[in-house]
Amino acid sequence: MLKIAVQKSGRLYDESLKLLKECGLYVDNGMDQLKAEVRNFPAEVYFLRNSDIPQYLEDGVVDIAIIGENVLSEKNANVYVLEKLGFSKCRLSIALPKTEEYTGITSLEGKKIATSYPNTLQKYLDEKHVTAEIHLISGSVEIAPNIGLADAICDLVSSGSTLFKNGLEEKDILFRSEACIAANPTSLEDKKEIIDEILFRVQSVLKARDHRYILFNIPNPQIKTVGKMLPVLKSPTVLPLLDEGWSSMHSVIHIDDFWKVIRGLKEHGAQGILVIPVENMVI
Ligand code: ATP
Ligand code: MG
Repeated sequence: MLKIAVQKSGRLYDESLKLLKECGLYVDNGMDQLKAEVRNFPAEVYFLRNSDIPQYLEDGVVDIAIIGENVLSEKNANVYVLEKLGFSKCRLSIALPKTEEYTGITSLEGKKIATSYPNTLQKYLDEKHVTAEIHLISGSVEIAPNIGLADAICDLVSSGSTLFKNGLEEKDILFRSEACIAANPTSLEDKKEIIDEILFRVQSVLKARDHRYILFNIPNPQIKTVGKMLPVLKSPTVLPLLDEGWSSMHSVIHIDDFWKVIRGLKEHGAQGILVIPVENMVI
């Protein structure tokens, strides 16, 4: 049995379960359970508090976890990051009241900084040879400057709207984070096969999310030129249409190239362009 930890509730919960599902691991809803069995895979899912996950992972209570890199780094957990997952992206940043001047971390020499990430912050201050007073707060850090508790904060930022609402401005980025799959080092050896299987599935789901299946009709003389614009898999499929002089071309494209490719196809006379999501991608 592989033991997988996910956040019990919060920002990581929905995306974590969605990913497991797309990997073919169906978990019966566990909102109020600590533990749920996966129906069709030898695994159980533990629903834990985000901040507790690194310790459980390090101790081998669970074998792998879906967790933010920021938490692993704060807890200095002795675990392996196997794959970044592309969601829950955020930055651990220094923010100050808009009106305060900031010319670098040395501006905070002798000042008070409120944070829920004391270790990461202390490490950064040490690296920069800055001495500041760290004020540990477990939540709503952004109100600290307004109530006179601190001169600055060090907190997670994604859109920046919470900072904005509190009259704060992001001045410095300490750390960029996203959700990842991390593993206990011993489990990685003892349960290598099953962890490899999960990883293989995760990678194929992630790859599929970045790609689209595309098909369109094209006049035959344009096939070669257009074929060069569709570089992802081995080579595009070409099927004859009933109408003479035309073919249907099929391929897979990366979403980053999407609009460029579509424009190019239209310029070369493509018609009836269909774009379809890809569920899984194994290359
Ligand atoms: P717990 O489960 O212990 O209550 P928590 O309160 O830190 O933990 P959330 O606020 O749901 O839990 O955040 C979970 C994770 O989501 C963070 O550790 C971080 O990796 C990620 N995250 C992404 N964007 C943000 C953001 N703007 N603010 C806070 N966390 C963010
Ligand atoms: Mg919370």
